[in-house]
Amino acid sequence: MSSTAGQVSMVEVRSVHKSFGPLEVLRGIDLDVRAGEVAVVLGPSGSGKSTLLRTINHLEKVDSGWISVDGTLVGYRRSGDKLYELREREVLKQRTRIGFVFQNFRLFPHLTVLENLVEAPVSALKRPREQAVAAARGLLDRVGLADKADAYPKQLSGGQQQRVAIARALALEPALLLFDEPTSALDPELVGEVLDVIKDLAASGTTMIVVTHEIGFAREVADTVVFMDEGRVVEQGPPAEVLDSPRHERTRAFLSKVL
Ligand code: ADP
Ligand code: MG
Repeated sequence: MSSTAGQVSMVEVRSVHKSFGPLEVLRGIDLDVRAGEVAVVLGPSGSGKSTLLRTINHLEKVDSGWISVDGTLVGYRRSGDKLYELREREVLKQRTRIGFVFQNFRLFPHLTVLENLVEAPVSALKRPREQAVAAARGLLDRVGLADKADAYPKQLSGGQQQRVAIARALALEPALLLFDEPTSALDPELVGEVLDVIKDLAASGTTMIVVTHEIGFAREVADTVVFMDEGRVVEQGPPAEVLDSPRHERTRAFLSKVL
């Protein structure tokens, strides 16, 4: 557990509904993640976990309800009691405050590892290049890949690529990091090195929401475990409660399958 977890809300999700056509994927989600906390989201395939992460980053618009990150409404501006949609440019600016790590890494294949980390700080944050390069080298060192700065993504293992993707997300100095099954695409022997990097971040007080099926990781690192099923948060609480004495039958059934 991270010792820096405070009382300040970093993420607030209130009554969020989201449908794709006739399919209601999020059916009234409420979620709070405090600054410095690690929330681990568990749930069966199709329960809406990825969609929830995507709404937090405004990659999907909500149908109703609202989300705020670091005290700022995501995708909207409030004026009196009315909400106005932000323009694309403002949404992109908001998004730089939120890092997203995908299952399949999504590195830029035509750029070196170093350039993968330098691109966004220079283009989106207008950082001087030398400063971005120095920061990128520091981040590569932090994820144990200082010697791979000049390699291209395809020359790396999956575990190394995902560590680069995490470093790339950190290069924007985000207030919040979202992980969507960061180890699901990896060979089993490469899972540990990626989880270790995420554990380091947790210990340093980075606020994170991690969707994963790694129960051991959840037990060790999560401040709060969120179990989702069919577009709802079925239960949320400390790992010892949700994982060892779940209150709901659906949580029990899920855990008995993945443990
Ligand atoms: P999870 O990540 O928990 O597996 P998802 O959030 O990816 O669940 O998906 C929840 C449901 O929403 C699934 O039935 C999925 O097929 C559907 N879905 C997700 N994204 C879209 C989309 N862009 N268009 C239509 N259906 C979608
Ligand atoms: Mg998913």
